[in-house]
Amino acid sequence: MEPRHFTRHYSAFRNWWWKYVNKFVFKKQHRTTPKMKSIKLYQHLEKDFVTPEMSDEWAEYMASIGDFLSENFKKRSIGLVCDFATEINKVYTAVFPSKEVMQIILDDEIQDAMLFVHHPSIWDIRKAPEVFQQMDRDLLQQFKNRRISIYNLHVPLDNFGEYSTSVTLARALGIKPEKSFAPYFGSMCGVFGKTDVATAQDLRKKFQKAVGHEVSLYNYGDNEIEEGIVAVVAGGGLNETIEEIAQNNVQTFITGISAKNDHSKKAHEFAEKHRINILGGTHYSTEKFACMAMCKYFKKIGLPSDFTEDKTVMEDM
Ligand SMILES: [Zn+2]
Repeated sequence: MEPRHFTRHYSAFRNWWWKYVNKFVFKKQHRTTPKMKSIKLYQHLEKDFVTPEMSDEWAEYMASIGDFLSENFKKRSIGLVCDFATEINKVYTAVFPSKEVMQIILDDEIQDAMLFVHHPSIWDIRKAPEVFQQMDRDLLQQFKNRRISIYNLHVPLDNFGEYSTSVTLARALGIKPEKSFAPYFGSMCGVFGKTDVATAQDLRKKFQKAVGHEVSLYNYGDNEIEEGIVAVVAGGGLNETIEEIAQNNVQTFITGISAKNDHSKKAHEFAEKHRINILGGTHYSTEKFACMAMCKYFKKIGLPSDFTEDKTVMEDM
């Protein structure tokens, strides 16, 4: 064997061996990953996100999967949805527990894990008036068999703070959060912030880049953004927040669900009258930044965590 060939053969062997060792070591690490008691994790989340003033109302619409719900969730619709795990090795985060999301997690061959969701139900405006669909029963049974619990923070994650839906959306658009607004079930779900972008058109471009698809602009006001002040409410909230935005003399509003329909007609007319531009980027795409940020939270407390992508409902805009 010529020395050069020998070297090549040797390096091929070394690469193969290194891969083998890595695989072996990885497996070993995987097996010895320090687990966290699920109760300890739920206590962490409760302490860091939930206040006594907060309330929510999901459970009353979730009777079709009532047998999978935890007693605590049936009472207050916050926190632990499905009490399936006693120990947790990994946390998956997602905006909605859609079939696609749940299947991706099951395909990961994992057990003793947690799915963290912003909503315990699945948004689909195309199915109005049933805009929230319930989780799939077969997939829930598989989650139970694999000991994968489901935990949700809706109002608590909308509340103004480091991981909040509107703050993380604002930051993704280069907007500096300045002041919270829009009281919502004991939280403050909106944020006024400052942007360097001069016009609504340019903000639209920036918004599109951040979410990775078209966004809507209802051009009811001036193109110039007055003093760079904008209002941000991730997800829904057009009907509930537009008056407060007008009272604060803010003329640019960034949100998720902006479609003009029977439900939002009055809010659109109000915005037009008060010359407020509305930018809409869908429910999913405007709330995913908070769920991505939550991975950092879980890693900080010692658990591996991944965000699970889902499909956007473009009809939201
Ligand atoms: Zn939402």
